[in-house]
Amino acid sequence: MHRIPFDRVNWITSSFLIGTAITALIGVPIYLFKVGIDWFQFAMFFFYLTATMMSITVGYHRLFSHLSFKAKLPVKFFTLVFGACAFENSCLNWASDHRLHHKHVDHEEDPYDISKGFFWAHIGWLLFKLNPEPSMDNVSDLRKDKLVMWQHKYVHWIGFGVGVIIPVALGYVWNLAMGLNPWTGALGGFLIAGVCRIVVAQHCTFFINSFCHMLGSQPYSTSHSARDSALMAFFTFGEGYHNYHHEFQHDYRNGVKPWQWDPSKWAIWTLSKLGLVEGLRRVPDGRILLAEMGEARRKAQLHLAEMREQPHGPAHRAADALHELVEKLSANYHELEKAVSDRVQLSRHVLNHWQDETRILMRELRRTAAYA
Ligand SMILES: [Zn+2]
Ligand SMILES: [Zn+2]
Repeated sequence: MHRIPFDRVNWITSSFLIGTAITALIGVPIYLFKVGIDWFQFAMFFFYLTATMMSITVGYHRLFSHLSFKAKLPVKFFTLVFGACAFENSCLNWASDHRLHHKHVDHEEDPYDISKGFFWAHIGWLLFKLNPEPSMDNVSDLRKDKLVMWQHKYVHWIGFGVGVIIPVALGYVWNLAMGLNPWTGALGGFLIAGVCRIVVAQHCTFFINSFCHMLGSQPYSTSHSARDSALMAFFTFGEGYHNYHHEFQHDYRNGVKPWQWDPSKWAIWTLSKLGLVEGLRRVPDGRILLAEMGEARRKAQLHLAEMREQPHGPAHRAADALHELVEKLSANYHELEKAVSDRVQLSRHVLNHWQDETRILMRELRRTAAYA
Protein backbone atom coordinates (compact mmCIF):
# COMPACT_ATOMS: atom_id res chain seq x y z
CA MET A 1 0.00 0.00 0.00
CA HIS A 2 2.83 2.39 0.84
CA ARG A 3 3.92 2.31 -2.81
CA ILE A 4 0.64 3.79 -4.08
CA PRO A 5 1.32 7.47 -4.87
CA PHE A 6 -1.87 8.92 -3.33
CA ASP A 7 -0.68 12.47 -3.92
CA ARG A 8 -0.64 11.77 -7.69
CA VAL A 9 -4.07 10.13 -7.98
CA ASN A 10 -6.28 11.49 -10.75
CA TRP A 11 -9.37 11.58 -8.54
CA ILE A 12 -12.01 12.47 -11.12
CA THR A 13 -10.95 9.78 -13.62
CA SER A 14 -10.36 7.20 -10.87
CA SER A 15 -13.80 7.81 -9.30
CA PHE A 16 -15.43 7.49 -12.71
CA LEU A 17 -13.60 4.29 -13.70
CA ILE A 18 -14.05 2.58 -10.35
CA GLY A 19 -17.60 3.91 -9.77
CA THR A 20 -18.90 2.72 -13.15
CA ALA A 21 -17.24 -0.70 -12.73
CA ILE A 22 -18.78 -1.23 -9.26
CA THR A 23 -22.21 0.01 -10.43
CA ALA A 24 -22.13 -2.40 -13.40
CA LEU A 25 -20.86 -5.39 -11.39
CA ILE A 26 -23.44 -5.01 -8.65
CA GLY A 27 -26.35 -3.21 -10.34
CA VAL A 28 -26.72 -5.31 -13.51
CA PRO A 29 -26.99 -8.77 -11.80
CA ILE A 30 -29.51 -7.42 -9.25
CA TYR A 31 -31.54 -5.77 -12.02
CA LEU A 32 -31.58 -8.94 -14.15
CA PHE A 33 -32.51 -11.04 -11.11
CA LYS A 34 -35.41 -8.75 -10.11
CA VAL A 35 -36.71 -7.70 -13.56
CA GLY A 36 -35.53 -10.48 -15.88
CA ILE A 37 -34.14 -10.28 -19.38
CA ASP A 38 -35.81 -7.85 -21.78
CA TRP A 39 -34.62 -8.21 -25.41
CA PHE A 40 -35.06 -4.48 -25.99
CA GLN A 41 -32.52 -3.66 -23.27
CA PHE A 42 -30.05 -6.15 -24.78
CA ALA A 43 -30.59 -4.85 -28.33
CA MET A 44 -29.85 -1.36 -27.03
CA PHE A 45 -26.72 -2.66 -25.25
CA PHE A 46 -25.36 -4.30 -28.43
CA PHE A 47 -26.17 -1.31 -30.60
CA TYR A 48 -24.46 1.06 -28.19
CA LEU A 49 -21.46 -1.23 -27.66
CA THR A 50 -20.91 -1.64 -31.41
CA ALA A 51 -21.44 2.07 -32.16
CA THR A 52 -19.09 3.13 -29.33
CA MET A 53 -16.34 0.62 -30.10
CA MET A 54 -16.45 1.25 -33.85
CA SER A 55 -16.31 5.00 -33.25
CA ILE A 56 -13.12 4.49 -31.26
CA THR A 57 -11.49 2.01 -33.68
CA VAL A 58 -12.68 3.46 -37.01
CA GLY A 59 -12.94 7.11 -35.91
CA TYR A 60 -10.63 8.06 -33.01
CA HIS A 61 -7.97 5.54 -34.02
CA ARG A 62 -7.74 4.85 -37.75
CA LEU A 63 -9.31 8.08 -39.08
CA PHE A 64 -8.25 10.84 -36.68
CA SER A 65 -5.05 9.48 -35.09
CA HIS A 66 -3.54 7.84 -38.19
CA LEU A 67 -5.31 9.59 -41.12
CA SER A 68 -5.52 6.18 -42.80
CA PHE A 69 -8.48 7.32 -44.93
CA LYS A 70 -10.60 10.45 -45.54
CA ALA A 71 -14.18 10.68 -44.30
CA LYS A 72 -17.21 12.74 -45.25
CA LEU A 73 -19.11 14.74 -42.64
CA PRO A 74 -21.67 12.07 -41.58
CA VAL A 75 -18.91 9.56 -40.69
CA LYS A 76 -16.91 12.16 -38.80
CA PHE A 77 -20.01 13.34 -36.92
CA PHE A 78 -21.16 9.82 -36.01
CA THR A 79 -17.75 8.66 -34.78
CA LEU A 80 -17.13 11.86 -32.80
CA VAL A 81 -20.57 11.67 -31.11
CA PHE A 82 -20.43 7.94 -30.28
CA GLY A 83 -16.70 8.19 -29.53
CA ALA A 84 -17.63 10.70 -26.82
CA CYS A 85 -20.02 8.05 -25.40
CA ALA A 86 -16.98 5.83 -24.61
CA PHE A 87 -15.85 8.41 -22.02
CA GLU A 88 -12.24 8.02 -23.17
CA ASN A 89 -11.67 11.77 -23.36
CA SER A 90 -11.99 13.94 -26.48
CA CYS A 91 -10.76 12.75 -29.86
CA LEU A 92 -8.07 15.47 -29.78
CA ASN A 93 -6.64 14.25 -26.44
CA TRP A 94 -6.96 10.60 -27.45
CA ALA A 95 -5.17 11.10 -30.77
CA SER A 96 -2.38 13.07 -29.08
CA ASP A 97 -1.78 10.28 -26.54
CA HIS A 98 -1.97 7.66 -29.26
CA ARG A 99 0.49 9.40 -31.58
CA LEU A 100 2.91 9.64 -28.62
CA HIS A 101 2.39 5.92 -28.01
CA HIS A 102 3.45 5.07 -31.58
CA LYS A 103 6.38 7.47 -31.60
CA HIS A 104 7.85 6.35 -28.25
CA VAL A 105 6.45 2.80 -27.96
CA ASP A 106 7.93 0.88 -24.96
CA HIS A 107 9.77 3.97 -23.71
CA GLU A 108 9.30 6.55 -20.98
CA GLU A 109 7.39 9.05 -23.16
CA ASP A 110 4.88 6.37 -24.25
CA PRO A 111 1.78 7.25 -22.17
CA TYR A 112 0.83 3.57 -21.80
CA ASP A 113 4.32 2.07 -21.82
CA ILE A 114 3.98 -1.73 -21.43
CA SER A 115 7.47 -2.02 -19.93
CA LYS A 116 5.89 -0.61 -16.74
CA GLY A 117 3.66 -3.71 -16.58
CA PHE A 118 0.11 -4.82 -17.41
CA PHE A 119 -1.62 -2.68 -14.79
CA TRP A 120 0.03 0.57 -15.85
CA ALA A 121 -0.60 0.02 -19.59
CA HIS A 122 -4.20 -1.10 -19.02
CA ILE A 123 -5.55 1.47 -16.57
CA GLY A 124 -2.79 2.74 -14.21
CA TRP A 125 -1.79 5.54 -16.59
CA LEU A 126 -5.34 6.92 -16.25
CA LEU A 127 -5.68 6.48 -12.48
CA PHE A 128 -2.40 8.24 -11.70
CA LYS A 129 -0.79 11.32 -13.13
CA LEU A 130 2.89 10.41 -12.79
CA ASN A 131 4.06 12.06 -16.00
CA PRO A 132 3.84 15.78 -16.79
CA GLU A 133 0.85 16.86 -18.91
CA PRO A 134 1.65 16.23 -22.61
CA SER A 135 2.19 19.36 -24.70
CA MET A 136 -0.29 18.19 -27.37
CA ASP A 137 1.85 19.73 -30.10
CA ASN A 138 1.34 16.62 -32.28
CA VAL A 139 -2.31 17.25 -33.23
CA SER A 140 -2.14 20.66 -34.94
CA ASP A 141 -3.77 19.09 -38.03
CA LEU A 142 -6.79 18.06 -35.97
CA ARG A 143 -7.06 21.50 -34.36
CA LYS A 144 -7.96 22.86 -37.82
CA ASP A 145 -11.01 20.57 -37.92
CA LYS A 146 -14.02 22.49 -36.56
CA LEU A 147 -15.98 19.32 -35.78
CA VAL A 148 -13.07 17.85 -33.76
CA MET A 149 -12.77 21.11 -31.81
CA TRP A 150 -16.53 21.20 -31.18
CA GLN A 151 -16.34 17.66 -29.78
CA HIS A 152 -13.26 18.58 -27.71
CA LYS A 153 -15.21 21.43 -26.08
CA TYR A 154 -18.43 19.56 -25.33
CA VAL A 155 -17.20 15.96 -25.10
CA HIS A 156 -18.63 15.17 -21.65
CA TRP A 157 -22.00 16.76 -22.44
CA ILE A 158 -22.24 14.79 -25.69
CA GLY A 159 -21.18 11.57 -23.96
CA PHE A 160 -23.65 12.03 -21.12
CA GLY A 161 -26.54 13.15 -23.36
CA VAL A 162 -26.21 10.51 -26.09
CA GLY A 163 -24.54 7.75 -24.07
CA VAL A 164 -26.63 7.85 -20.89
CA ILE A 165 -29.74 10.10 -21.14
CA ILE A 166 -30.95 8.64 -24.46
CA PRO A 167 -30.81 4.95 -23.29
CA VAL A 168 -32.62 6.01 -20.10
CA ALA A 169 -35.32 7.83 -22.13
CA LEU A 170 -35.67 4.92 -24.60
CA GLY A 171 -35.99 2.42 -21.73
CA TYR A 172 -38.70 4.62 -20.18
CA VAL A 173 -40.68 4.98 -23.43
CA TRP A 174 -40.36 1.27 -24.30
CA ASN A 175 -41.78 0.12 -20.96
CA LEU A 176 -44.52 2.73 -21.15
CA ALA A 177 -45.53 1.44 -24.59
CA MET A 178 -45.47 -2.16 -23.30
CA GLY A 179 -47.69 -1.27 -20.35
CA LEU A 180 -44.87 -1.88 -17.84
CA ASN A 181 -43.44 0.36 -15.13
CA PRO A 182 -41.58 3.06 -17.15
CA TRP A 183 -39.08 3.79 -14.35
CA THR A 184 -37.95 0.14 -14.39
CA GLY A 185 -37.22 0.53 -18.11
CA ALA A 186 -35.35 3.79 -17.45
CA LEU A 187 -33.23 2.09 -14.76
CA GLY A 188 -32.48 -0.79 -17.17
CA GLY A 189 -31.36 1.68 -19.86
CA PHE A 190 -29.11 3.42 -17.35
CA LEU A 191 -27.51 0.21 -16.06
CA ILE A 192 -27.24 -1.94 -19.21
CA ALA A 193 -26.80 0.22 -22.34
CA GLY A 194 -25.44 3.06 -20.19
CA VAL A 195 -23.02 2.11 -17.41
CA CYS A 196 -22.32 -1.57 -18.23
CA ARG A 197 -21.72 -0.77 -21.92
CA ILE A 198 -19.28 2.04 -20.95
CA VAL A 199 -17.31 -0.34 -18.71
CA VAL A 200 -17.17 -3.11 -21.36
CA ALA A 201 -16.17 -0.69 -24.16
CA GLN A 202 -13.50 0.93 -22.01
CA HIS A 203 -11.82 -2.30 -20.96
CA CYS A 204 -11.98 -3.67 -24.51
CA THR A 205 -10.16 -0.51 -25.65
CA PHE A 206 -7.69 -0.74 -22.74
CA PHE A 207 -6.85 -4.31 -23.86
CA ILE A 208 -5.23 -2.80 -26.97
CA ASN A 209 -2.68 -1.04 -24.76
CA SER A 210 -2.17 -3.97 -22.37
CA PHE A 211 -2.77 -7.48 -23.75
CA CYS A 212 -2.08 -6.47 -27.38
CA HIS A 213 1.48 -5.72 -26.25
CA MET A 214 1.75 -9.02 -24.35
CA LEU A 215 -0.19 -11.86 -26.01
CA GLY A 216 0.33 -13.36 -29.45
CA SER A 217 2.91 -13.49 -32.20
CA GLN A 218 5.24 -10.98 -33.84
CA PRO A 219 5.26 -11.89 -37.54
CA TYR A 220 6.29 -8.44 -38.84
CA SER A 221 8.73 -7.06 -36.30
CA THR A 222 10.26 -7.66 -32.89
CA SER A 223 11.60 -4.12 -32.62
CA HIS A 224 8.57 -3.24 -30.45
CA SER A 225 6.36 -5.17 -28.02
CA ALA A 226 3.14 -5.11 -30.12
CA ARG A 227 1.64 -8.51 -30.95
CA ASP A 228 -0.89 -10.13 -33.27
CA SER A 229 -3.65 -12.13 -31.57
CA ALA A 230 -6.93 -13.39 -33.06
CA LEU A 231 -8.45 -13.60 -29.57
CA MET A 232 -7.66 -9.96 -28.84
CA ALA A 233 -8.93 -8.99 -32.31
CA PHE A 234 -12.31 -10.44 -31.32
CA PHE A 235 -12.53 -8.29 -28.18
CA THR A 236 -11.25 -5.14 -29.87
CA PHE A 237 -13.21 -5.06 -33.15
CA GLY A 238 -10.12 -5.98 -35.16
CA GLU A 239 -7.40 -4.02 -33.37
CA GLY A 240 -5.75 -7.21 -32.07
CA TYR A 241 -3.40 -7.45 -35.06
CA HIS A 242 -1.30 -4.94 -33.27
CA ASN A 243 2.13 -6.11 -34.47
CA TYR A 244 1.04 -5.36 -38.04
CA HIS A 245 -0.46 -2.07 -36.92
CA HIS A 246 2.70 -0.83 -35.21
CA GLU A 247 4.74 -1.78 -38.27
CA PHE A 248 2.36 -0.17 -40.78
CA GLN A 249 0.35 2.35 -38.77
CA HIS A 250 -1.08 4.28 -41.76
CA ASP A 251 -2.80 1.23 -43.25
CA TYR A 252 -6.58 1.37 -42.75
CA ARG A 253 -6.45 -2.39 -42.11
CA ASN A 254 -5.11 -4.08 -38.97
CA GLY A 255 -6.08 -7.66 -39.84
CA VAL A 256 -4.53 -7.61 -43.29
CA LYS A 257 -5.03 -11.28 -44.20
CA PRO A 258 -8.42 -12.22 -45.70
CA TRP A 259 -9.23 -14.65 -42.86
CA GLN A 260 -8.41 -12.24 -40.02
CA TRP A 261 -11.25 -10.81 -37.89
CA ASP A 262 -11.27 -7.05 -38.50
CA PRO A 263 -14.83 -5.62 -38.50
CA SER A 264 -13.41 -2.08 -38.40
CA LYS A 265 -11.66 -2.72 -41.73
CA TRP A 266 -14.87 -4.20 -43.19
CA ALA A 267 -16.83 -1.13 -42.00
CA ILE A 268 -14.35 1.29 -43.61
CA TRP A 269 -14.37 -0.71 -46.86
CA THR A 270 -18.20 -0.79 -46.90
CA LEU A 271 -18.37 2.96 -46.21
CA SER A 272 -15.99 3.52 -49.13
CA LYS A 273 -18.35 1.58 -51.43
CA LEU A 274 -21.18 3.83 -50.21
CA GLY A 275 -19.10 6.90 -51.06
CA LEU A 276 -18.91 8.06 -47.43
CA VAL A 277 -15.14 7.61 -47.07
CA GLU A 278 -12.29 7.65 -49.60
CA GLY A 279 -8.52 7.54 -50.01
CA LEU A 280 -8.07 4.25 -48.11
CA ARG A 281 -4.35 3.75 -47.51
CA ARG A 282 -2.92 0.25 -48.05
CA VAL A 283 0.66 -0.97 -47.73
CA PRO A 284 1.60 -2.85 -50.95
CA ASP A 285 1.58 -6.66 -50.57
CA GLY A 286 5.27 -6.87 -51.50
CA ARG A 287 6.32 -4.65 -48.59
CA ILE A 288 4.17 -6.61 -46.15
CA LEU A 289 5.68 -9.90 -47.30
CA LEU A 290 9.19 -8.41 -47.14
CA ALA A 291 8.63 -7.59 -43.45
CA GLU A 292 7.33 -11.12 -42.79
CA MET A 293 10.22 -12.77 -44.65
CA GLY A 294 12.80 -10.57 -42.94
CA GLU A 295 11.39 -11.46 -39.52
CA ALA A 296 11.19 -15.19 -40.33
CA ARG A 297 14.77 -15.15 -41.60
CA ARG A 298 16.04 -13.33 -38.50
CA LYS A 299 14.31 -15.82 -36.16
CA ALA A 300 15.55 -18.82 -38.19
CA GLN A 301 19.16 -17.60 -38.20
CA LEU A 302 19.09 -17.07 -34.43
CA HIS A 303 17.61 -20.52 -33.93
CA LEU A 304 20.12 -22.10 -36.28
CA ALA A 305 23.04 -20.58 -34.39
CA GLU A 306 21.68 -22.08 -31.16
CA MET A 307 21.29 -25.50 -32.79
CA ARG A 308 24.82 -25.40 -34.19
CA GLU A 309 26.14 -25.08 -30.66
CA GLN A 310 25.23 -28.74 -30.16
CA PRO A 311 27.54 -30.49 -32.64
CA HIS A 312 26.16 -34.04 -32.24
CA GLY A 313 22.79 -35.80 -32.25
CA PRO A 314 19.39 -34.94 -33.80
CA ALA A 315 19.88 -31.19 -33.47
CA HIS A 316 22.75 -31.33 -35.92
CA ARG A 317 20.77 -33.19 -38.59
CA ALA A 318 17.73 -30.90 -38.13
CA ALA A 319 20.01 -27.88 -38.44
CA ASP A 320 21.13 -28.98 -41.91
CA ALA A 321 17.51 -29.17 -43.11
CA LEU A 322 16.74 -25.78 -41.57
CA HIS A 323 19.86 -24.26 -43.08
CA GLU A 324 18.66 -25.22 -46.54
CA LEU A 325 15.28 -23.52 -45.95
CA VAL A 326 16.96 -20.37 -44.63
CA GLU A 327 19.20 -20.19 -47.71
CA LYS A 328 16.17 -20.46 -49.98
CA LEU A 329 14.31 -17.79 -48.01
CA SER A 330 17.34 -15.48 -48.08
CA ALA A 331 17.51 -15.70 -51.88
CA ASN A 332 13.78 -14.90 -52.14
CA TYR A 333 14.18 -12.09 -49.63
CA HIS A 334 16.90 -10.35 -51.63
CA GLU A 335 14.92 -10.69 -54.84
CA LEU A 336 11.82 -9.22 -53.18
CA GLU A 337 13.84 -6.46 -51.53
CA LYS A 338 15.18 -5.39 -54.92
CA ALA A 339 11.71 -5.56 -56.51
CA VAL A 340 10.24 -3.40 -53.72
CA SER A 341 13.01 -0.79 -53.95
CA ASP A 342 12.76 -0.71 -57.78
CA ARG A 343 8.96 -0.53 -57.45
CA VAL A 344 8.56 -3.57 -59.69
CA GLN A 345 5.08 -5.08 -59.58
CA LEU A 346 5.36 -8.78 -58.72
CA SER A 347 2.70 -11.26 -59.78
CA ARG A 348 0.25 -12.62 -57.20
CA HIS A 349 1.56 -16.08 -58.05
CA VAL A 350 5.17 -15.23 -57.11
CA LEU A 351 4.11 -13.49 -53.88
CA ASN A 352 1.92 -16.45 -52.87
CA HIS A 353 4.77 -18.86 -53.58
CA TRP A 354 7.21 -16.92 -51.38
CA GLN A 355 4.54 -16.57 -48.71
CA ASP A 356 4.13 -20.38 -48.70
CA GLU A 357 7.88 -20.93 -48.44
CA THR A 358 8.03 -18.52 -45.49
CA ARG A 359 5.23 -20.47 -43.79
CA ILE A 360 7.07 -23.77 -44.35
CA LEU A 361 10.17 -22.29 -42.74
CA MET A 362 8.19 -21.03 -39.74
CA ARG A 363 6.57 -24.47 -39.35
CA GLU A 364 10.00 -26.12 -39.45
CA LEU A 365 11.21 -23.61 -36.89
CA ARG A 366 8.41 -24.53 -34.49
CA ARG A 367 9.04 -28.24 -35.10
CA THR A 368 12.73 -27.96 -34.25
CA ALA A 369 12.19 -25.56 -31.33
CA ALA A 370 12.89 -28.40 -28.89
CA TYR A 371 16.47 -28.74 -30.17
CA ALA A 372 17.53 -25.23 -29.27
ZN1 LIG B 1 0.26 -0.19 -29.27
ZN1 LIG C 1 -2.45 3.15 -33.66
